[in-house]
Amino acid sequence: MSEPQREELPIDVLFVGAGPASIAGAIHLKRQAQKNNLDLEIGIIEKANEVGAHSLSGAIVDPKSLIELFPELSESDFPFESPVKTEKMFYLREGGGKLSFPYIPKAMSHHGCHIASIGKLTRWLGEKCEAEGIDIFCPFSGDKILYDENNHVVGIRTGDQGIDKNGAHKPNYEPGVDIKSKVTVFGEGTRGSLTKQLIQKFNLMDHKNPQNWAIGVKELWKVPEGRIEPGYVAHTMGHPLGHNIFGGGFIYGMQNNILDLGLVVGLDYNNPTIDPHHELQLLKTHPWVKDLLKDGELMSYGAKSLPEGGLYSLPQLYTDGALIIGDSAGFLNGMRLKGIHLAMKSGMLAAETIVDAFKNKDFSKNSLSSFESNFKNSWAYQELYKARNFHQGFEKGLTYGMLNSGLGLFTNGKGFGYIERLKSEHGHEKMKKINPKTNNRYKNLEFDGKITFDKATDVYHSATKHDEDQIPHLHITDNDICFTKCTEEYGNPCQYFCPASVYEVVEENDNNRLQINFSNCVHCKTCDIMDPYQVINWETPQSGDGPAWKNM
Ligand code: SF4
Repeated sequence: MSEPQREELPIDVLFVGAGPASIAGAIHLKRQAQKNNLDLEIGIIEKANEVGAHSLSGAIVDPKSLIELFPELSESDFPFESPVKTEKMFYLREGGGKLSFPYIPKAMSHHGCHIASIGKLTRWLGEKCEAEGIDIFCPFSGDKILYDENNHVVGIRTGDQGIDKNGAHKPNYEPGVDIKSKVTVFGEGTRGSLTKQLIQKFNLMDHKNPQNWAIGVKELWKVPEGRIEPGYVAHTMGHPLGHNIFGGGFIYGMQNNILDLGLVVGLDYNNPTIDPHHELQLLKTHPWVKDLLKDGELMSYGAKSLPEGGLYSLPQLYTDGALIIGDSAGFLNGMRLKGIHLAMKSGMLAAETIVDAFKNKDFSKNSLSSFESNFKNSWAYQELYKARNFHQGFEKGLTYGMLNSGLGLFTNGKGFGYIERLKSEHGHEKMKKINPKTNNRYKNLEFDGKITFDKATDVYHSATKHDEDQIPHLHITDNDICFTKCTEEYGNPCQYFCPASVYEVVEENDNNRLQINFSNCVHCKTCDIMDPYQVINWETPQSGDGPAWKNM
C-alpha cells in the first residue's frame, strides 16, 4: 500500500497526552513565554475522546503545584472533593479484625492535602488550558515519533483512522497528521508507548535503577447516606496481600456518598497466578470493608500501572528535541502515595527549560539537559530524594520495608546500612515458575454480584469501547512462546495479571489457544510491563477508543 498524502501541522511545542503534567506544562509555558515576549504555538494531543476520560488515580492531591501554577486562584477554587479530614492506617487481619496504627509519620501524612477525582481535575485543567488559547487536539493518539536525519525528535505522527482488522482502508479512512514541533514533550502517562520507544532508542535508562511498577485497581461506589464522610482517608496493609506482596488498599470518602476503593499491587510478586482484580475482590471480603459497601452500588471500575521506583528510576529526561515528564518519566512519590503534584511540577520545569531553549534558539539535547538541573534545584527533587529508597526496601518483604522506611525518616532516606542508593531489579524477573505447589489464592473467592464482581462485570463498569474492526493494539512479538514455553513455565500469567480479561486461554479442537479480547482493554499497560518474556507490546488503538471514565 502506498504511503498516503499526509497533512503537516507545524507548531513550536507539542505535548503528547493531556494529563496534569502536560496541561500544567502547557499553561506555564504559555505564561512564561508571554513574560519573555515569545509568541509560541503550543498544542496538546490526547488519545481519549475527551480530556480526563483516560485518567485514573486514587486520588489525594497535594495542592502545591496548583497553587504555584495559578497564583491568582485560592485553594477553594480548585475542583477538589474535600480536604483530608480524618486519616487512618489499618492493618487488616486475615479472617476479620483490624489494628489501627496509633501514629502516622509526618512524611506519610496527608494533612493539608485534598481528596479529588483526577478525571474531574484534569477536565478542569483542560478548560483552563483552552482559556489560555492552547489547543488540545482530542481524540488524537500518537502513533509514531518523527525524527530528522540527525535522529533529533521533530514531532509526532498521529494514528491513521479507519483501517480494518486486515489493514485495508475503510470508507471513513483518514491518514494521521504529521505534527512537526521544535520541542516534543512526552507526558503520555504511565508506560507511554512512544516514551518506551524513545527510552530504548537512546538508552535513556542506562545507569538507572529499573522502574518498579505496581498496578492500582479501583472501584467507585455509591454507598448509603452517612456511611462515609467526605474527607475520610484510610490506607490498609495486611489482608489480602499479606507480607510478601508489595502494596495495600485505600478507601477515600468523596462528596455525595461516593466511596473510592482501591488496591495497589506491586508488579514484582513471585506467584504467577496472582490476579490484581481478584485481590481487590478479596479486600472487599474483609468484614470491615464489606460493611462499608453493604447496600451500596458499584459505579465505575478501572486500573492503571504506577511507576513506583522513584528518583533513581527516572530516565534521562531529555534528548535532542524532546523531554519526558509526569508518569511517563516516573514522577511519583511511593512513600506519600502521590504523583499528581510532582507530575504537574515536572511539566512546569519542562516549560521553563523550553522558554530558555527558544530564547537561545537551541533545541539540542545539550540545551534541553537543563531540565535536569532545573529539576535538581526544585522542591520536587528534594521530595523524591527523601523517598528514594522507599520501594526498594520492600523488595525484602513488608516488615523489612516498614522498618527501612521508618529508619529512612531519620536518616534523610538512607534506611538500613545507611545506604545512599538501594539497587532494585525488574519486577517481572522475580516471577517464579509454576509448579504443583503454586498456591491458588482464589479457591474460596466467589463473585456474589453485590460486593464482589467478576472481571467482565467490572470491565462493563469501565465503559470501555474499542472498534472491533481494527488491527488489535496488543502485539505479541513471539506468538510461539505463548503455548510452548510460557504455558509450561509460568502457566500463561497474562490471563491473571490483566485486570480486564483481555487474555483468555480457550480450548479449541483439544488444543489451547490464546484469545486476545483487545476491546476489553482498560489501557493499564500491565501486560507490557509484567509479561515474563517481555513479548507483549502495547500500542495506541484507534483514537478515542478505550475507557470512558468520568470521575476516576
Ligand atoms: Fe491492561 Fe494489558 Fe489488560 Fe489492556 S490488555 S487491560 S493494558 S493488562
